[in-house]
Amino acid sequence: MHQTNQKPIPIPLRQVLSANELAQGQSFNDVIALGSYWSRTDDVDLQSQLVKCFKNPESFSVDKLCLEAITKAYSGMIVQASQAWQPNAIIRVLSSGETKPDPAKPHSALASLISSAFNVPDLTSIFFKTETRKPMRMIDQLSGNEVLRHRINYVLQDLFLVPRQINGTVLLIDDIYNLGATARVYAAVLKRLCGVDKVYSINIAAARFSGGKDGWGKLVLDLDRFLNIARCYIQQHGGGDSFDDAWIVRNQAEYHLKQDCLRLDGKGHRSLVFLARRERVPCPSCISSEPKRTLRNWLLNRFSS
Ligand SMILES: [Zn+2]
Repeated sequence: MHQTNQKPIPIPLRQVLSANELAQGQSFNDVIALGSYWSRTDDVDLQSQLVKCFKNPESFSVDKLCLEAITKAYSGMIVQASQAWQPNAIIRVLSSGETKPDPAKPHSALASLISSAFNVPDLTSIFFKTETRKPMRMIDQLSGNEVLRHRINYVLQDLFLVPRQINGTVLLIDDIYNLGATARVYAAVLKRLCGVDKVYSINIAAARFSGGKDGWGKLVLDLDRFLNIARCYIQQHGGGDSFDDAWIVRNQAEYHLKQDCLRLDGKGHRSLVFLARRERVPCPSCISSEPKRTLRNWLLNRFSS
């Protein structure tokens, strides 16, 4: 292939945007998060666990099918939540470990599912970075009003735009919404340099601060809806018990398949089998009644579709 027109020259964003100015206002039009996320939580917080699986499938040893089911569920919920915005294009935020969109990351699969559902282009590749960085939370030492400006500078420092006319509305996809530093940078540059009218930010979760007393903490992922989509996907691709309900108690070595198991003592937190069995063993009293249940499920799955 021969390229006849000249390639646009990439623009370093730190030269065209000022962190001071961006910290003053909100350059994006609105923001939605599907749920909330607490990074220091133990495994009893299911919505945070699911976010971690999506962000870091390797360290969670999530198998391929489970990861696809999680991605499918997030994409379905994102498409539904952002339907009213009628985007003309989507762009996903590059994560700290990327200099350009990495097709192996679940983030890329998520963007591609959303782009097909809306039938609009995925323009993520108009942004690139010169080097990978440590995640923001690892370098963040400041507090108060300084944090936002500091984070904006962090996003700006090595981010480039390959300018291109887009127009209309862009849906900006990110995993965790923190203080909106990233959304401010992307939205400002899209509006100033790409002719975009509106930028909406959609996130799989918002970070909870102060133990959730910041307002975002009340945001709870609609787990029933999430699991409906995920389980449907699992069923269509060979089944398995990964997304079956499991019940766990903090600091107990067992996981339970029955919410009314006496060993739960009424204190069970909702989990899923593939998560619960990472660090716990099956409860013997739940398991003893399991074969019948499994056989019945197997028969139902086998002959229902
Ligand atoms: Zn049990």
